[in-house]
Amino acid sequence: MNDQLTEYRIKKAPYYRATGDETELYEAAYSVRMPMMLKGPTGCGKTRFVEYMAYKLGKPLITVACNEDMTASDLVGRFLLDPQGTRWQDGPLTLAARLGAICYLDEVVEARQDTTVVIHPLTDNRRVLPLEKKGELVQAHPDFQLVISYNPGYQSLMKDLKQSTKQRFGALDFNYPDHEIEAEIVSHETGVNKEVADKLVSIAERARNLKGHGLDEGISTRMLVYAGSLINKGVEAKAACRVTLVRPITDDPDMRDALDAAVTTYF
Ligand code: ADP
Repeated sequence: MNDQLTEYRIKKAPYYRATGDETELYEAAYSVRMPMMLKGPTGCGKTRFVEYMAYKLGKPLITVACNEDMTASDLVGRFLLDPQGTRWQDGPLTLAARLGAICYLDEVVEARQDTTVVIHPLTDNRRVLPLEKKGELVQAHPDFQLVISYNPGYQSLMKDLKQSTKQRFGALDFNYPDHEIEAEIVSHETGVNKEVADKLVSIAERARNLKGHGLDEGISTRMLVYAGSLINKGVEAKAACRVTLVRPITDDPDMRDALDAAVTTYF
């Protein structure tokens, strides 16, 4: 493999607990190099899944956390000035396309639409990436695949992917796993026992019912992993839950009381 890609290779098998047929579906999608969209709330396992799949398929993974200040050049590349003159530097998307990596654009909707359109020619059967500033047309490597994540809960009329972008992808739905599976994940990730993991998941389930009734987003699996890791370090359970589950998601005093009460029911 090309030296440049070595650092993007996942060396150790990531732990991923499948919750349905997502691994088989993704493998089939990769076999035809279909661009994929992973949809679901934050912290429910999308990034872990793509890391796991990249490892399983033996492909390097280049991840880009998208944000609204990102420009097309941040993805594609730019000319840099150095003592010898100007030098072109490939951006992460170009590198992945050239060398055959899986490129994961996390929270792609955060990027402005004029940035997002640069992925279009890579997602149809041309599989090319025009580097306009450089005057080069990069033909994507046969192993290249584009994956994006998308949180449907965050979308507003102002900020959404265009239909012309969405329709270029196959999509897999992600959500918080079922109780037993989520407890298994929390226990595996943090080392807390099954009983503690069970309680943490029950607290999250209560909070998730408040989504749309004062909470924008429920307690994620990621937050439960945070809680479990503090508890495993010896932090008292109620304090650990306050710090990792309650305080981060709401500033509203009544909502905090409601969530604190849910914590006290279990710990
Ligand atoms: P997202 O990309 O959806 O925001 P992540 O993939 O970063 O979320 O997931 C957050 C954390 O939750 C992971 O680091 C991992 O500890 C845990 N996690 C969530 N779902 C799973 C799963 N199915 N298998 C293993 N770990 C998971």
